Amino acid sequence: MDNSSSRKGPWGRLALWKKILVGMVAGIVVGALMGPSAELIKPIGTLFINAIKMLIVPLVFCSLIVGITSMKDTRKMGRIGIKAIVLYLGTTAVAIALGLALSSIIEPGAGLNRAVTEASTISKSAPPLVQTLLNIIPKNPIGALAEGNILQIIFFAIGLGVALVLIGEKGKPAVKVFESLAEAMYKLTEIVMSFAPYGVFALMAWVAGKFGIDVLMPLIKVIAAVYLGAIIHVLVFYTGVLSIFGRLNPMPYLRGITNPAAVAYTTSSSSGTLPATLKASQEELGVSKGVSSFVLPLGATINMDGTALYQGVCALFIAQAFGVHLEVADYITIIMTATLASIGTAGVPGAGLIMLSLVLTTVGLPMEGLAIVAGIDRILDMARTTINVCGDIMVSVLIAKSEGELDKQTYNS
Ligand code: ASP
Repeated sequence: MDNSSSRKGPWGRLALWKKILVGMVAGIVVGALMGPSAELIKPIGTLFINAIKMLIVPLVFCSLIVGITSMKDTRKMGRIGIKAIVLYLGTTAVAIALGLALSSIIEPGAGLNRAVTEASTISKSAPPLVQTLLNIIPKNPIGALAEGNILQIIFFAIGLGVALVLIGEKGKPAVKVFESLAEAMYKLTEIVMSFAPYGVFALMAWVAGKFGIDVLMPLIKVIAAVYLGAIIHVLVFYTGVLSIFGRLNPMPYLRGITNPAAVAYTTSSSSGTLPATLKASQEELGVSKGVSSFVLPLGATINMDGTALYQGVCALFIAQAFGVHLEVADYITIIMTATLASIGTAGVPGAGLIMLSLVLTTVGLPMEGLAIVAGIDRILDMARTTINVCGDIMVSVLIAKSEGELDKQTYNS
């Protein structure tokens, strides 16, 4: 171990997100120097985007099934489970709507559109909403997997996951297979992401060469929109829900989330933050062990409010940047897809970026937009992971309160 790391050069030892940032900056410089001929480098970026596309179907399918089947002991946990899922999905939908709203007010991609659209051959090609809704049940699930129809895949995966839980013992071998496949897909994602610095380098060079450096200024606005959304979601929405539905003073909640929030911000992994989340919810907020040990791991797997918010901001940013006009139906499709996709997002660094590609594909937005966002993804990931974790804790407090499993003395102390 020591040997191999000492054999690595300074580049090899650099954290991935720093390499991606270096790739982005180097790409911008090279693109600015090369001008339109930077098109020559683009194929390297296209390879990277194709590799990301390759991951989507098996990654979503396996991790969704694992997310659903991880809810063991469904009888006892049935009621709490349903409450948790409704709250998780509901708060996620609010988060993405907030992201879309902020992005349409701040308009991070505005002004870019003319330059980018003129030179781009990309057009939006999503089917109308009603059609999408009718089509959500796949007539042929294998066909859905082969075509990469993500809503159909999500529908089928949820059905299969629930059925596997319901058949109990008999479902275990299949669950094991999916768990192992999901692990493998996480590993493959890690491998593909290790090429991100080069993919981002090539795509940024292409963007900067073709459209000029001005195209990149709006990224600061994207960061501002995501951070502002994150703050509003916690300080206004979560505290509001706690006081209105939980009849609780939100101040102890805000104090209680500080430790896990700091861990989430620095690690960008809600799964990695789980020990801190459990500790805070039990010891500082007085949530019973029974509720927290069921609701929080489930939340770390399926509840991604921050990721959803980020997807709302970025999808709209990319639409603005590429001059694609979105209809109301497209907004609804984005909310639906991102909410469902959040169930399949792994709580590991960078997972949200892969899921963003899914949202873009569903609504027919250009995947090239991904590259522009990828360069700053870590900065966004830190904020969204923090919100993901704060959301899990809020739901655990709310459910504990409603089940009479909240130790009020601990909560208020
Ligand atoms: N890093 C996030 C998390 O662990 C997921 C994401 O990339 O959005 O919660």
